[in-house]
Formats: sequence, structure tokens, C-alpha cells
Amino acid sequence: MISEDTLRKIDRWMRNWGLDYAIIVTRDIVDYFTDIARATDRVEMGGFLLGKLWMNHAAFYIYHDFVQVRNVSSTPENSYIPDPNSTVEVAWMVREGKYDVLAVMHTHPDDAAFSVVDLVSLRTFRFHVPPALRSRLPPDLVTERGASQGAYPGFLVADGESPTLYCYTYDLPFYFAAVEDGRIIYDDTSVRLFDEDPSYYKYLERCVEKGIVKVGKPIDFVRWTLFFTHFVKVPINELEKRLSPEIVIGGREGEVSIREIAEEIREKMKREIERRLRQL
Ligand SMILES: [Zn+2]
Repeated sequence: MISEDTLRKIDRWMRNWGLDYAIIVTRDIVDYFTDIARATDRVEMGGFLLGKLWMNHAAFYIYHDFVQVRNVSSTPENSYIPDPNSTVEVAWMVREGKYDVLAVMHTHPDDAAFSVVDLVSLRTFRFHVPPALRSRLPPDLVTERGASQGAYPGFLVADGESPTLYCYTYDLPFYFAAVEDGRIIYDDTSVRLFDEDPSYYKYLERCVEKGIVKVGKPIDFVRWTLFFTHFVKVPINELEKRLSPEIVIGGREGEVSIREIAEEIREKMKREIERRLRQL
């Protein structure tokens, strides 16, 4: 997964930069992102990312597993609502201590970035953190200042010409890294939506002001949500390029192209997703 040594190194670096929240995804998760980007066609898809918490100066949310969950939205073309039965199952896995942390991920069939609904849902996402875990979390990561919820990032895979991963948080700047066999293959630090893309910020605000998008929250709540959104934007092709090929094939006769190997891996992932879907 990722060695404690690497974690400590990142932790030291983060302390110097005054960051105390790290979001790490493993190769399995990166494969899931690439796979689901390909699978997303007309409707939104998604599921939960699950992982462990590691803490020193900073809190590291290390996502290494996932559960694909059916979209029960009545308008799946432009919204994702995970099947509540599966959501309860996932919540139990966390409560039983199988995982420490979870996050919702969903896809957009087009290349649209996070919507105002995505950002408001993340902020209002209620998930009761088990008391044993709560005591280990730094106060900053218990959102809405003292409520019994942990701070979870949102993940979005926007498809389209070039699939893009967005990881976003409410009110928490963070460090993001993708790791493979303990090696960091990609990393970045978050930027604030308001500073990075003021026109998109304005656009999202206007959608609510003009009543084009309804979120069921007062406009000030929406403004603060947008104002405190932090995110990283990762080109998925770039992530994929940095992964090492999994299989080494010897001998001319048995030679298999990387493309075929990739196809095979993709097939395997698809079967794995289906298997997990059946489990729920
Ligand atoms: Zn969305």
C-alpha cells in the first residue's frame, strides 16, 4: 500500500507547509477511476471509496478499496443517489471497524466539473463517526465545528474527451497523492475554487441565484459552501501513464501487447465491480 516511512516523510513536508489533511489513493482506486470513466456512458455512476486512517501531525485518509453502488436517482443522466440499502451496508462495515474512512465518488457522463449540488451534498453528508474513531480525529476534521461527523472528501470522475478526476473538500486544504507499491506516482496540493476559477465560482452561484438549480438551502449557505471549496483536478490519462505495467511477458511467441494486457485488466476490474455489486 504505502510504507510508514513514506507517510512520515509526507507528514514532515506537510507540517512545514501548514497542511494537516492528506488524501491518498492506491493503485486499485486509480484503476477503478479509469475503469468507471470508460464504463460511464449516458448516466451517472458511483460508489464508495473505503480506507484506513493514519495519523501523526496530519491525518491521512488512505483509500484502498471500493464498493460500486447502483444509482437510484430518477434522473440518473444528471444526478447520482447511491442505493440506500448499500449505503447502510457500507456504513456498517465502517462501524464494525473494517474500514476507518469512506467517501462517495460519482461520475459525470460529460466533462462538467462538480456541480453546486455536489458541493452542497458533500457539506451536508451525514455519516455518524464511530466514537472510537472520533476521539482519534483532530477537531478540524470533525466538520461543522463539533458535530459528530468526520470530514470526507468527494470524488468525481468527469468523462468526456479526456477523463478528469476531481477530489474536493469543504473547508479543508489538503495534500493529494496516488500511490503504487509505496511509490508516489502523482501528487498535488489543493487550490480554492474561489481563487483558482472565479468564473466557475460565479457561474455556480448564479445557477442557484436564478433558480436554475435548487439545493434546498439558503443562498448564504450556498455561497459559503462554494467559497470554502478546495479541490485538485487530475487528468486520469496522466495517472494511468504513470502506473507501471502489471505483467511482464517473455518470449516472442507469447508476446502480448500492453493494449491487450490493459484490456484484460479492465475486464478483470469489470468482473470485480460486478462481483462486489452482487455482494451488496
Ligand atoms: Zn455531480
